[in-house]
Amino acid sequence: MSGKPILWIIIPCYNEEEVLPITAPQFLQKVLDLAGAGLISDRSRVCFVNDGSRDRTWELICQFARQDEHFIGISQSRNRGHQNAVLAGLMEARDKCDITISIDCDGQDDINAMDEMVQQYLDGAEVVYGVRSRRDTDTFFKRFTAEGFYHLMNLLGADIVFNHADYRLISARVLESFADYHEVNIFLRGMVPLVGFPSTTVAYERHERLAGESHYPLSKMLSLAFDGITSLSNKPIRLITGAGMLFSIVSFIGVIWAVVMGLMGSTVAGWASTVCIVCLMGGIQLICLGVIGEYIGKIYMETKARPRYIISERTWEPYERKYHG
Ligand code: UDP
Ligand code: MG
Repeated sequence: MSGKPILWIIIPCYNEEEVLPITAPQFLQKVLDLAGAGLISDRSRVCFVNDGSRDRTWELICQFARQDEHFIGISQSRNRGHQNAVLAGLMEARDKCDITISIDCDGQDDINAMDEMVQQYLDGAEVVYGVRSRRDTDTFFKRFTAEGFYHLMNLLGADIVFNHADYRLISARVLESFADYHEVNIFLRGMVPLVGFPSTTVAYERHERLAGESHYPLSKMLSLAFDGITSLSNKPIRLITGAGMLFSIVSFIGVIWAVVMGLMGSTVAGWASTVCIVCLMGGIQLICLGVIGEYIGKIYMETKARPRYIISERTWEPYERKYHG
């Protein structure tokens, strides 16, 4: 490869009119600095992905694009969630640049880690994971649930990098292969390691959100965790099979015991124990059915193979109605 690599920073934005005016100039400055230091090409871009925002986010992005050619943006036809927004940006970028860095738009992830990421790329890494070194600014609850999340994910068979969210550098070469992963249920931080290629990590400090509010309440976090596990691994189904076998063995012993006791004539009115066992088994069976149902739901969505994102507009080719001339 000759010349300097073209970098696209991919930034998903959902209802971020408060924080964008603060962070957009920071991203631009970063690109200019990196280009000035001779690490990346001057044709690098800051690419915002509007995830169907209901506020002025898209207008802001269009305004930035008019002000500076380094700013560009694409807009999704509706809100599809953070993962799909990042994917849309990455797929848009893959044939137009050499490296992408995905990052949230709220200033929580330290943009200065990008220098190190690009350096690692120049030194041969194709994927560089941003890893949070400290979580001091998070509340105890957020830290506890988030770290528990990583442990649980790994325990249940989804290999993900500890304390890595979606701040990462991916080269266009990796994205080319990544485009062959056609699944509809996407969980990027679990999928990127599956593609392979040399990878490394860069530590950074996570700050507080500069403005606006988090869009990830506990309910969304739990659903992300659940989706992550069931999209990446069959381990829960195996655990269920294992538990089923264990319970069968225990019940078999129980039946023998009951028959022996009955034959010896020492049976008692075991109402309480019967009810307990029936309830317990009923509960366990329902949970198991639920987990299996979750997988069937995933298969259902995959067979439909609906588009994972729909880009309705790009700042460089805005949509115009024909009859307006
Ligand atoms: N985001 C998005 N679509 C959504 C929700 C969030 O594109 O449906 C973006 C959001 O604009 C931000 C990033 O995803 O850039 C992370 O969201 P947030 O900061 O709310 O989550 P947290 O950092 O609190 O986990
Ligand atoms: Mg955030």
